[in-house]
Amino acid sequence: MGFVPITFDEYIEKHLESNPSAKEADLRKHLKSAVDAYKNGIKCSCGNDIWVIGSASVGNSCFTCITGESNPTDDYEIDSAIKKRGNSLPR
Ligand SMILES: [Zn+2]
Repeated sequence: MGFVPITFDEYIEKHLESNPSAKEADLRKHLKSAVDAYKNGIKCSCGNDIWVIGSASVGNSCFTCITGESNPTDDYEIDSAIKKRGNSLPR
């Protein structure tokens, strides 16, 4: 259970592979602004951390509000947005 970590560039590549009509520049811009929102502590309207990858296309919201599912299963998330989450103690 949980997100599958992926790097920013890996995700861009993957997304462009499955969405050949997507514009790389736009995708990078949207994804970057979602990462920045996450790092700035922007939360979903329900109070959860935002899901960066989903937020890049639909606006800043958490996984549950975007997908209607309670937990991610094999869904990607940008690695830098996962590290702050979860059970690991800060180093
Ligand atoms: Zn939410």
